[in-house]
Amino acid sequence: IVKLVIVGGVAAGMSAAARARRLNEQADITVFERGDYVSYANCGLPYYVGGVITFEDDLLLHTPESLRAALNLDVRTGHEVTGIDAENKTVTVQPVTGPETEPFTVPYDKLILSPGADPIRLPLPGFDSDRVHELRTVPDAQQLHALVSDEAADPVRTAVVLGAGFIGLEATEALAARGIDVHLVELVDHVLPPLEAELAYPLKKELERIGVRVHTGVAAEEIVPGEACDLVHLTNGDKLPAELIIASVGVRPATEQFASSGLATERGAIIVDEHGRTNLPDVYAAGDAVLSVDAVTGLKRPVPLAGPANRAGRLIADHIFTPEQARPIPTVQATAIVRVGKLTAAMTGANRASLDEAGIDYQTLHLQPLNHAGYFPGASRISLVAHIDQQGQLLGAQAVGESGVDKRIDVLATAIAAKMPVTDLIDLDFSYSPPYGSAKDPVNFLGMVAQNVMSEKLKLWHPTLLEETTANIDSGTDSPFLLDVRSQAEYNSGHLYGAMLVPHTQIRERLEDILEATNGNTIYVYCASGVRSYLATRILTQAGADARSLSGGFTTATDYF
Ligand code: FAD
Repeated sequence: IVKLVIVGGVAAGMSAAARARRLNEQADITVFERGDYVSYANCGLPYYVGGVITFEDDLLLHTPESLRAALNLDVRTGHEVTGIDAENKTVTVQPVTGPETEPFTVPYDKLILSPGADPIRLPLPGFDSDRVHELRTVPDAQQLHALVSDEAADPVRTAVVLGAGFIGLEATEALAARGIDVHLVELVDHVLPPLEAELAYPLKKELERIGVRVHTGVAAEEIVPGEACDLVHLTNGDKLPAELIIASVGVRPATEQFASSGLATERGAIIVDEHGRTNLPDVYAAGDAVLSVDAVTGLKRPVPLAGPANRAGRLIADHIFTPEQARPIPTVQATAIVRVGKLTAAMTGANRASLDEAGIDYQTLHLQPLNHAGYFPGASRISLVAHIDQQGQLLGAQAVGESGVDKRIDVLATAIAAKMPVTDLIDLDFSYSPPYGSAKDPVNFLGMVAQNVMSEKLKLWHPTLLEETTANIDSGTDSPFLLDVRSQAEYNSGHLYGAMLVPHTQIRERLEDILEATNGNTIYVYCASGVRSYLATRILTQAGADARSLSGGFTTATDYF
């Protein structure tokens, strides 16, 4: 009989335990969980705080009793594993709640470490204030719910959320939904740091629309306690009043207890092989606590997401009980999604920062397609960014929009996983009728734009060019020749300084004027979304000019201009 011990009883741990039982009815499976809850829906916690999920019990998927009944698991909540003796194959367990207080040791044949990650605590004066909370566990959510819900005796009116990552955004949305005056503070210069800056801009606008005050490119430096509220001092001198502060500035692997056991880690994250095996014999690890390999860049980093954790837990159980059939744990694409007000932001694969860090050459494409046929009521725009390499491989994609973002990013996640050449996206045969999509889906369009770029039928320019050329103007060099091909009304509502206006329908008849004005220089064409400027560049290029189209148009680049 195999004695399997599992440390941590939520995503990876419980997936491993459940699969282990399905594979082996005789195994002696014990799960130690330091908290009072197991197998709970941590991803649902923000929605309970915000009042979307109304019953706390809906978050609690199982209890130790239900797990005993359904899967014959021995689940010990309130028990923390404090050490591993790899030589004697035992773990030390410290009871943290309940009547027992003495530590004890438990032998294992196989051990799975799935301790997750702990929230990072900022080393700030005042961070230990009672008003500072985290949103990680069921008790955290219960405390927050008690402070913000309609039933609270004196509900919180002002809050500061530190960190605009996924959990910070979800917490912010939850508090705003409760009518709380929320300030969101982010160190990086845009919200949701893994998202490209040009896509973060509409998210910021949406946060402001739902009443959130967004402070980016700035850090909290001190929390000064007060009677009615604390004051969060920012590095730019602002002082934000807060009856509640939610700190969501990132997580770190919860592996400190195992440091002395000889477990190999990198920056605290457990190093594992393709079957989840650590350097210690018969010790496996999965989830937020491990070092994952990025599927696109090969960079190694922890990826704190539920999907990879759940699937890795299951695969580890496969390797323990049916090693000959076990599939390796795949590298991760870090596909992720978040809702902010009316908008959804989603991403898969590599972003600019990780491609730059890995030294991978890439081109960036921007599209602004509609989620479904424009003539069908309720069509809305999806802002899509994709990075491709010279060989036409899709490296990463991100999107923001009101509807249909999840579907497109999940298709692109599949394409990256299948290592599909980006031009093959043109041929994907999607379900279509007007309420759902278009005869040419945004994903088909991405393939077409990529094909045009790779075959140089479409040459792009990016707004960063203007930053570079401003420097040129200062040094006396000519500024780029800008051609606005939108309508007169659009031009009047705002245009780039010095741009010549020729609406795209008039390009053919005014071709000679344009070519004369350019004096043989490159023509930097722009419109609202990149479609009309593409049409214009085709005419100009075929007339012998070097014409480029602003990638994604004015709409994508709003934040730059
Ligand atoms: P966890 O699920 O965190 O489980 C680890 C458990 O181990 C914890 O319960 C901990 O108490 C216990 N533990 C730690 N150390 C010990 C020890 N020494 N002894 C005993 N027990 C120990 N991911 C998504 O993909 N999508 C989402 O929408 C999403 N939303 C989220 C929202 C919130 C508020 C949070 C907190 C996370 C969210 N995540 C989301 C991330 C996702 O929940 C995690 O990536 C996933 O739970 C990681 O699984 P894990 O098993 O590694 O760790």
